[in-house]
Amino acid sequence: MKRKFTGALLGSAVGDALGAPVEGCSRQKVSSVYGEGGEWKMISGRYTDDTEMMIGVAESLVANRGFNAEDLARRFVANYDPSRGYGPGTKEVLRRLSEGESWEEASKKVFGGAGSYGNGAAMRVAPVGVFYCDDLARLKEVAYKSSQITHSHELGKEGAALQAFCVALAVRGGRGGGRVGERRREREGMLHELKGFVKNAVFREKLEKIELDKAKTRDEVVRELGNGEAAFNSVPTAIYSFLRTESFKDAVAFAVSLGGDPDTIGAMTGAISGAYYGETAIPKAWLEKLEDGRKGRRYIKRLAEELYRVKISL
Ligand SMILES: [Mg+2]
Repeated sequence: MKRKFTGALLGSAVGDALGAPVEGCSRQKVSSVYGEGGEWKMISGRYTDDTEMMIGVAESLVANRGFNAEDLARRFVANYDPSRGYGPGTKEVLRRLSEGESWEEASKKVFGGAGSYGNGAAMRVAPVGVFYCDDLARLKEVAYKSSQITHSHELGKEGAALQAFCVALAVRGGRGGGRVGERRREREGMLHELKGFVKNAVFREKLEKIELDKAKTRDEVVRELGNGEAAFNSVPTAIYSFLRTESFKDAVAFAVSLGGDPDTIGAMTGAISGAYYGETAIPKAWLEKLEDGRKGRRYIKRLAEELYRVKISL
């Protein structure tokens, strides 16, 4: 169980760092950078806003022994490093928060008052998924509220809840041993639960396009599920990247290979896959290359272990 917590958080950071150098690239460009198939070498190991905000979520859950929106909003502001590649909407919200606006209000004022439906809440939600893996009502509530701080559009919140739920299913899954038939049945069960969880029509329609008995080409994945920054064009894609593969390495490489928004799709796929396969399934070469400064690899691992300790002490 502890390895699933560390796997989810480190997996999220590894996926982010792997996708970061090819952010905004077409899938053809990604394959020219990483090569077709075979072993991928992580290029820089530097993570982006996805991981910086995911760290804030985990820190806040540990410090408060659960969710505290005001504290989380403060941590997002305190951790903010503009060189990590934040989007313009989130930057504006963080500025408003730093000027004292409330966490419930600040995010409603961006995008002409509609709020953001980007994947910025889903990309950082892994700690919520592992921490509330056995309490789905609370998981959904916390995913929504943690999203509200920066992404207040219904589709942004629903994307965060769906991603958190998939991480929770992954924490609970993957214990049935390695038989192909069993793994297959388990994935079908997960997909069924995900479809049951989602009430929103936009996400439902996307999940209906996922078929486990027929592998889509990359072009089909991009066309049918998407590879962009909207939550509904990336969360289902991350889920599919996990469901269609058999290892952490293949899942994350597939996600990043689609291009578009690969740091975030990589981070979300890495979170689900890390929660499912556990920390030991993350390729050593990728983990070792992941940055290890003040809040780097070792810090993230300790934070995940702390989160696990708080969880089992409750
Ligand atoms: Mg990013």
